[in-house]
Amino acid sequence: MTSDETLPVLLPLALDAPYDYLAPARWALKPGDFVTVPLGTRERIGVVWHGKLNEGRARVETSKLRKITARLDVPPLPADCMKLVEWVAHYTLSPPGMVLRMMMSARAAFNPPKPRMGCRLTGAKPTRMTPARARVLEVAGNGMVWAKRDLMQAAGVGASVINALVDAGTLTVEAMAPARPPAPDPGFITPKLSREQASAAQPLRARVGENTCSVTLLDGITGSGKTLVYFEAVAAALAAGKQALILLPEIALTRQFVQAFETRFGCAPVEWHSEITPRQRGNSWLAIARGEARVVVGARSALFLPFPELGLIVVDEEHDASYKQEEQVRYHARDIAVVRGSLGNFPVVLSSATPSIESHVNVARERYGLVRLSTRYSGAALPDITAIDMRTAPPERGKWLSPILVEVLGETLQKKQQSLLFLNRRGYAPLTLCRACGYRFECPQCAAWLVEHRFRGQLQCHHCGHKARAPKACPNCAREETLVPCGPGVERIAEEVRERFPDARIAILSSDLAPSVNALREVLGRITAGKTDIIIGTQLVAKGHHFPQLATVGVVDGDLGLSQGDPRASERTYQLLSQVTGRAGREAISGAGYIQTYMPEHPVIKALLSGDRDTFLRQEIAAREAARYPPFGRLAALIVTAASLPRANAYARALVAHAPRAEKIRVLGPAEAPLSVIRGRHRVRLLVKAAKQSDLQAYLRQWLGAAPSPKGGVRFSVDVDPYNFM
Ligand code: ADP
Ligand code: ZN
Repeated sequence: MTSDETLPVLLPLALDAPYDYLAPARWALKPGDFVTVPLGTRERIGVVWHGKLNEGRARVETSKLRKITARLDVPPLPADCMKLVEWVAHYTLSPPGMVLRMMMSARAAFNPPKPRMGCRLTGAKPTRMTPARARVLEVAGNGMVWAKRDLMQAAGVGASVINALVDAGTLTVEAMAPARPPAPDPGFITPKLSREQASAAQPLRARVGENTCSVTLLDGITGSGKTLVYFEAVAAALAAGKQALILLPEIALTRQFVQAFETRFGCAPVEWHSEITPRQRGNSWLAIARGEARVVVGARSALFLPFPELGLIVVDEEHDASYKQEEQVRYHARDIAVVRGSLGNFPVVLSSATPSIESHVNVARERYGLVRLSTRYSGAALPDITAIDMRTAPPERGKWLSPILVEVLGETLQKKQQSLLFLNRRGYAPLTLCRACGYRFECPQCAAWLVEHRFRGQLQCHHCGHKARAPKACPNCAREETLVPCGPGVERIAEEVRERFPDARIAILSSDLAPSVNALREVLGRITAGKTDIIIGTQLVAKGHHFPQLATVGVVDGDLGLSQGDPRASERTYQLLSQVTGRAGREAISGAGYIQTYMPEHPVIKALLSGDRDTFLRQEIAAREAARYPPFGRLAALIVTAASLPRANAYARALVAHAPRAEKIRVLGPAEAPLSVIRGRHRVRLLVKAAKQSDLQAYLRQWLGAAPSPKGGVRFSVDVDPYNFM
């Protein structure tokens, strides 16, 4: 009789704890092993866990347990990754199974395809030698496994020659190992760093050697060459035999980054983001798990890859809002990077020209180290920034560019230099209305106006994706030619630029206009090559691009974003506008930025004009501290949704009624969300505001554990450390 042991297995599903299964003891399964188990009528892939998550739960009788079907031939999940699953689940109040699911988001890694077969020399000589056979023997003489087709090509022979050699026992057919990713070489080149860069790189390299968690903020102005500086830390990690991970906010658009990496390390890094194919995903996941992939650049989800030897994480553009995941498991990649560093005892580098208030405060508290770069590598000065007061220099009726900005654009064109106009609004116009009856086009399922996308002839909802053909007549009063667009989007700015400068070569950079990432990359390539005169773009252009010939940046609406009811509105606007204007004059040309505004006295605009970042930061940090907002207090949002507003409200009120009393924790709301309906669901928000030192997670657990479960189609979600208040 074989003896079975009981093992907890965590499945990548919305489950709070592992389920127990039986497996023969002689399999010697260990925590971290990937296995298949029966669940209901299906087979599922899961991970053998340890008992901790199961503590205090009722156990199923051994005689009723089902059996683990098989162990999978993939490397086990490293212990750090298992800890990370538990940490993230605890912190975000998500089921551990859903965090595990993020770690397993490479289906193909678990269903390997049939291996490709290849030929290898056995050493046995063929009885008869021909010139063709001799060529095969010579080419294949290095002992490696050749794909048949490659061998035919290299030796210049037909398939029959190869087949005959297999029959003769000279060649054997065997499985080919999948191609390993190339290994980046830390010493491929020795970069010539400026003195400032070299002294910034030195402490970053030193941190890598320490085998302990540390966080360093690399705070360097736009164009100071932060990439090359943190590459030194990557090189140190590689030299120490560690894997490294670099997070980028807009990975699919960063050809420039990959090129810089190749120049420095001699080959491309492994990429991890939504654009890679399922097959590649599977291969990369396995290569990372086996330790074959040494450097990965990726989007936030790359944090959940099963690195066995991770020794460094760099978070580039650490202030970027896209590091916060807003669905399912709501986490902030910058924070989780630091957690992963502390679980694995390795350093984390946060890089930005406009670091987050959170990171500045952590530096001030001496929890993070600080390295600064205060000059541009090219020696160019930061662009001069001018406000254009729209009250005194307004655009013509129906136009959006002030005469001052138009003049500057004309001069830049004349000097054969590039300009960029920034407006963070996709499409042609954010609202369409009927001049005759006042009808406004609204999304049928969201409380939002439909945005006109004239280029595609569509009206579109930016919240649910609803699309409709732009009609000729008003759907309400049926009159024709009465529909008017209100306000500008990038397409409308492009129209105005085309009218004013018919000979200029224009490019629009907006996520919806290029059908694919490759098309976007092509537009970016044209800009870099100087084949574009005027670029008109949304926030896509603010993310780390280096346009060598860009001289003038115009911000069409500097006030957009300042009026939002969001504790980070000022910080975000400051970051976005300094990033955008920072694209100007990065190389030989000197740059200038122009901000159109109706509020030139606003502290954010004033800070941008004076370049006095420190004063702005001091004021902003003081305001956060006074209001007890993060990082001086903690927040969690609860979002209740239902088919009707009264239902959502009723449940939200029931939640509030069950909120435990706690010192220094307050529950605010319910309040109808600013975006009050999405996809037909009414939304109501609660905000939990807690003192910095309070255990917010314990409070939420106790509360939600005792509160009534939602019924009647009501749903709710918890967002710890919310970044989105809509
Ligand atoms: P940042 O990210 O700080 O805005 P980048 O890393 O994009 O700046 O660098 C700006 C430009 O300067 C890039 O084209 C980069 O290749 C170049 N550069 C920076 N440092 C060096 C250096 N030491 N040697 C050569 N080129 C450099
Ligand atoms: Zn909608």
